[in-house]
Amino acid sequence: MEQTLETLVENAMTIAEPWKKNGQVASYIPELSNADPKQLGISLMTKDGRLYSAGDSDYAFTIQSIVKCYFLLFALDKWGEDIVFSLVHMEPSGASFQSPAITPLPQIRPANPFINAGALVLCSLIASTYSLEEFVESLAQLISREDLPIDRAVYQSEYAHSQANRQSLNKLAELELLRADRETTLDFYIKSCAILMDTKDLARMAWAFKHHEAISPRHRLILESLMFTCGMYNGSGEYAVRVGIPSKSGVGGGLIALHDDYCFGLYAPALDPKGNSLAARKAMAFFSEELRLHVFDRTD
Ligand code: GLU
Repeated sequence: MEQTLETLVENAMTIAEPWKKNGQVASYIPELSNADPKQLGISLMTKDGRLYSAGDSDYAFTIQSIVKCYFLLFALDKWGEDIVFSLVHMEPSGASFQSPAITPLPQIRPANPFINAGALVLCSLIASTYSLEEFVESLAQLISREDLPIDRAVYQSEYAHSQANRQSLNKLAELELLRADRETTLDFYIKSCAILMDTKDLARMAWAFKHHEAISPRHRLILESLMFTCGMYNGSGEYAVRVGIPSKSGVGGGLIALHDDYCFGLYAPALDPKGNSLAARKAMAFFSEELRLHVFDRTD
């Protein structure tokens, strides 16, 4: 089995490799355009904690939207489900991640916790009570890291180009959905998005979301449901069909995927038009087929 999983990860590299050249690295945050589209890293962690990696699995990159999973878990843990879902809906938006996607019914609030507006609302809730250091420390502890550095250059670059998120914050303030002021919220949000991890950290984080006893089963169920329906931007539907396990990507090129037996962390910065790492998506389709991971795969 050892040998098989090692080979499988290597084979996923081979399958994904040619797709690197078809995507585009994100450029709306100028610093992200310096990413090397030739990079590809894959890590897989088994339920009993064995880690298999290949490619650029030691290269640290900013996790971007993947941190939104932890905004959700942290907010659920500290405030509970009723308060969290009084601030955000749980619906796919069908819109770009940057869209405010404020859904009108039954009450005006962002469509889900993974579009930027929804993540900003949860971030402002967290920032109303906790410092960024406390939040990052809690995530570091969950994945057994002493600390988690923040990429200052990416942070500064995004901060200087955050018109869309500022517009969302203005709208959210108008709707009285913010619990911390706009500037504090934006700063907390952008710094959290600029947390650096490599694919081994991502696989550990995916594993922790799936198996760590610090996460309540109910909160895990909520996270996985929303990852499944909304985790891959407005490419979540196709990804659900082709891969079929809860996943979350970020515009930095990272991707995490959760399954009971295998958890994944991947990195390839060239993105498809929907904002998902193209090569990582192809690798996950391969893993899903080879390991029969799709949640609705009932065939023998
Ligand atoms: N910091 C990025 C933004 O707000 C995160 C986007 C993402 O990874 O989807 O634009």
